Amino acid sequence: MSKRDYYDVLGVAKGATAEEIKKSYRKLAIKYHPDKNPDDKGAEEKFKEAAEAYEVLSNPEKRQRYDQFGHAGAQGGFGGFGGGSMNMEDIFSQFGDIFGGGGGSPFDSFFGGGGGQTRGGRRVQKGTNLRIKVKLTLEEIANGVEKKIKVNKQVLCNTCGGSGAKDKNSFSTCKTCGGSGAVRRVTNTILGQMQTTSTCPTCNGEGSTISAKCNTCHGDGVTRGEETISINIPAGVSEGMQLSMSGKGNAAPRGGVPGDLIILIEETPHETLKREGINVIYDLHVSFVDATLGATIEVPTIDGKARIKLDPGTQGGKILRLKGKGIPEVNSYHKGDQLIQVNIWTPKILNNEEREVLEKLKESANFKPSPGKNEKSFFERMKEYFE
Ligand SMILES: [Zn+2]
Ligand SMILES: [Zn+2]
Repeated sequence: MSKRDYYDVLGVAKGATAEEIKKSYRKLAIKYHPDKNPDDKGAEEKFKEAAEAYEVLSNPEKRQRYDQFGHAGAQGGFGGFGGGSMNMEDIFSQFGDIFGGGGGSPFDSFFGGGGGQTRGGRRVQKGTNLRIKVKLTLEEIANGVEKKIKVNKQVLCNTCGGSGAKDKNSFSTCKTCGGSGAVRRVTNTILGQMQTTSTCPTCNGEGSTISAKCNTCHGDGVTRGEETISINIPAGVSEGMQLSMSGKGNAAPRGGVPGDLIILIEETPHETLKREGINVIYDLHVSFVDATLGATIEVPTIDGKARIKLDPGTQGGKILRLKGKGIPEVNSYHKGDQLIQVNIWTPKILNNEEREVLEKLKESANFKPSPGKNEKSFFERMKEYFE
């Protein structure tokens, strides 16, 4: 499933300003709006695609992540949004403000107020974001993983469906605003009388108040609950990275928009392999006999054991490379390598027989250190390693 680049979707340049992005999205949203294109699946897809792109590019934090990691870094391709599960209601409630109306259906103002559903100044509540930590092993990071995590969070109250009211008859028209949801105020200024409209403070713009509260949530509309959320973690993430899933955070009462779920990545250290960016480092210890005679040695890798060949006369400090046995870059086919650092193990205890053999070899010219032109210095090896 390949996704189009968000900048391409909105038809803007990579360095586009927030205003340009907004303008372009507005144009597309009007063009592909379902009211204008009834029963046109293609238009609906375009409409959703534009909304998804706008959702990411209009948010500086998400945009930066997207610029850095592509679709895997932003929430695209990452549950919630990316799976195409975003519905029209979400789009309307989330991006209503782009059309300046702030009403229940923001498109009304554009299409001549046809819907008649707009309740002036209704403030859509947003649930708070929820943060969780996810611990990943090196294997999970290398391959990507789907984690099913039980999250304790605010969910919509089952009894009242989030309204906070005891039943249908528990709503009464707000006395402050008379049901309009907005209050007008006239003030005298130097320039004359000025009329301002603002959201009714009593009913929060809803036009009605609750006379009898729900017994379960006591009018909050939300209760504590558990939800098992399945999180698709792309390969290549690293310690401290944050991923976000739109709408998977705390629920918001009274038809509000749920907050986001922010996932903080933690790495569990591997027993024998050490991660260094996209490469994996393994510290190999070999006997000086194997290093002298050459040997085939088994080493652990992220996906099981691998055999490496040690040439006769291998020096300590040599770095061997297993190509492509590292960690993939997020949202890329590029993979790091496994680097094997060869250490010569010096025996600490010897029996008499061993001591005798070594004493005999001691005077041999071949056993005297004589680094030649072919031996790389520490600095040369470091340079190679960081290339
Ligand atoms: Zn309730
Ligand atoms: Zn009111």
